[in-house]
Amino acid sequence: MVDDELRELARQEGLKCLAVMDARSAPEKEEEVFRQWLSQGRHGTMKWMERHAEMRYRPQGLLPGCRSMIFVGFNYYQPLPRAPDKPAGRVARYAWGRDYHKELGKRLRRVVRALQGRYPHHHFRSWTDATPLAERYYAELAGLGFSGRNNLIIHRRFGSWFFLGEILSTLKFREHRPSRDCSSSATATRTRTCPDRCSRCIDSCPTRALMEPHRIDASRCISYLTIEYQGVIGPDLARSLGDWVFGCDLCQERCPFNQGVPSTGIEGFLQHRGGSFLLLRDLLSLREEDMLARFAGSPLMRAGRTRLVRNACIAAANSGALDLLPQLRVLREDADEIIAAQAEQAITALEGY
Ligand code: SF4
Repeated sequence: MVDDELRELARQEGLKCLAVMDARSAPEKEEEVFRQWLSQGRHGTMKWMERHAEMRYRPQGLLPGCRSMIFVGFNYYQPLPRAPDKPAGRVARYAWGRDYHKELGKRLRRVVRALQGRYPHHHFRSWTDATPLAERYYAELAGLGFSGRNNLIIHRRFGSWFFLGEILSTLKFREHRPSRDCSSSATATRTRTCPDRCSRCIDSCPTRALMEPHRIDASRCISYLTIEYQGVIGPDLARSLGDWVFGCDLCQERCPFNQGVPSTGIEGFLQHRGGSFLLLRDLLSLREEDMLARFAGSPLMRAGRTRLVRNACIAAANSGALDLLPQLRVLREDADEIIAAQAEQAITALEGY
């Protein structure tokens, strides 16, 4: 009964790939590997990972009395449009449309509210991405996909182009693997791991953030550098960033399981807010007061003006477009010290072209 209700609520909200498992702590060795990774500083400046490490492999730490863990997927793939003729910065696919925290979060919250209304003596909590829980580790255990060498969960139908959402519950649900509607296509239906000799994701990473299979140095990842890292990016790493101004899709684009996957049907993602390419001349002239008008509801708001303009300075240097020099010279006088320093570095790089 409760299991049917959960399936129906997920279906009504367009949540795919429902997987349910009993809540359990992970074996100690998982936590040891994670703590070693932290001690090596691979998480960069993401200090929250240290602060919440205790809860990463303990769902009961997040929801006391937790008995079931519910995972859903939300596919976001769209083909890349033609690049503009003018120098432009690239945005990772997940950020072209409406912020997934909002789009998926509101659906998860509606499921939680409905469950809460029906089972008022139980507790439910939902997250998407913004959780200390090792959600990819658990989603793999729940059967939602397998862990690729690029450290992402690969789903049999959607590749790695999907968001994960989860609900923790004190109400017990029956364990459940994703149903057939999520297994209808492509090679991934027949395999549960990466092909033996494949290292396309590792080879494609220009910053060498993928150190070896399943091990990432997040502090070198372009996604981290363009979105989370708040300082000036040094010349060596900056050169490797290419034209990315928000996130990066390189390791996903090369993965064989990510070819020929269905496009998302979610309106919020299809109606672009940030968009796939941002003209560098527009980004370089972005003012604080333009942010809301230009990016409201988009994940790009997270980077704020400082990081978007900083990243545009880097992309401008990497583009070799000398006609962007006048804008960079204005930015080197910017009141924001990060932008000013990054613009100075970009000018030096461009003048050396
Ligand atoms: S590119 Fe190859 S090695 Fe990397 S995740 Fe995909 S299948 Fe696995």
